[in-house]
Amino acid sequence: MTARAKNLTLLHTALGVRSLYDSVCFCNRCGLCTSACPAYQENPLEPNSPRGRNQAMRLFLEGKLKGKEHRAALRALLTSCSLCGKCIRVCPGQIPTPKHMLEFRRLLNFQLLPVSLFYLLRLRGTAPRLFNFMVHTGLWANRLKMLSLFAVIPGMGWLKHTCEILPKQTPKPFNAPLQTHPNFIYLPSLEAEFFLPEVAYNSYFLAAKKHRVVVWKNTASGLFEYLYGDIRFAQKTLRSLILRHQYTGNGSLPLLCDNIDVYHFLKQAPQLFEEFPSWQEKAHHFAQHIVFITDILPKRFKNRTRFEKPILLMPSSILESADTALKTAPQILQTLFKKNFVECGYKQDYAIAAGYGFVRGSHANAYQLQAVRTVAQNQAQTVFVLSGLAALELGYSLRRFYPSARVRHIADLNG
Ligand code: SF4
Ligand code: SF4
Repeated sequence: MTARAKNLTLLHTALGVRSLYDSVCFCNRCGLCTSACPAYQENPLEPNSPRGRNQAMRLFLEGKLKGKEHRAALRALLTSCSLCGKCIRVCPGQIPTPKHMLEFRRLLNFQLLPVSLFYLLRLRGTAPRLFNFMVHTGLWANRLKMLSLFAVIPGMGWLKHTCEILPKQTPKPFNAPLQTHPNFIYLPSLEAEFFLPEVAYNSYFLAAKKHRVVVWKNTASGLFEYLYGDIRFAQKTLRSLILRHQYTGNGSLPLLCDNIDVYHFLKQAPQLFEEFPSWQEKAHHFAQHIVFITDILPKRFKNRTRFEKPILLMPSSILESADTALKTAPQILQTLFKKNFVECGYKQDYAIAAGYGFVRGSHANAYQLQAVRTVAQNQAQTVFVLSGLAALELGYSLRRFYPSARVRHIADLNG
């Protein structure tokens, strides 16, 4: 494999570093994962199960599913996987099915996001100033109720969903004071910086209580390219982030994330450089400095009474499962709200994030309805999530189907 590979050929798995084919073949077809998979629950056909997905990928890698007649079925198989990672939690071998699905997307060159949205989002990594201008123009048009008019243009249908999930009031932009001698870095997620500035402010002020914080505004993490592009773009973005970190405070500053998916992605940075030993060392060093917002939440809170009870946590995390950030959040909420906190079990539904509402297919609505059902079954009034995008997507579904409940980002515990 050359350095120009557009997909990862070596995967980090619970059983060690494996080739993609080996990793897929380690699925022993026991089927324990099927009951945990939301795609299989929605449509109980074997290709929708994690087991079926792994077998399809194995057949593809063996050259048995190459024909054009298989493309439609493979596309349906890929769009229905929400990358939620619930299959990993129940799998005895912790087979990384969502990672297999990402590699499958790349191998098949499937464009899952609408093309115009894909190229707009790519600008954040390639032309951040232009991206900033375009987003602010869009927010301005939305305030004048003009943005949704453009949704009728072919290829721009995603604007309708954008208008639906954005807050009704156009938020004031997030601005933080300049810091010339920082000892802490805050990397706001795209949605916190542009659409949910209260999340960005809460995260910033949490960090600023104890640190001199520099904010890296409009900075791509590489997660978008990792999920929707090819791996070379993700590596390129990560390299520039690693170098910037290296030259800020000699590479010793913690880097704070407010989105659990960005956090997990940056934590696994070394995995993207398995074939580049010199970069892998730098990526290891970089990953050690990534912190999540729950790591800096204070132990005591003054305003816990402003949250309606019962309280629920929907992790909404993709790709990874057994991570300390995912364990810390429920511990904090349990300590704070005691018996008023209802924890989601692994079989319950997660808010689908990572822009899944923009992926074409009928699954996004079905998944969000499953999440609303979980909220309703627990009669929760406040639902905490760990990413701004999950807050936007779930907030939209709750407004439609269960309006008594509200979504909060975990950073809101600061206020
Ligand atoms: S992915 Fe894991 S749980 Fe599912 S069939 Fe394969 S080995 Fe069994
Ligand atoms: S990541 Fe989620 S949707 Fe995809 S196969 Fe696993 S459980 Fe099913």
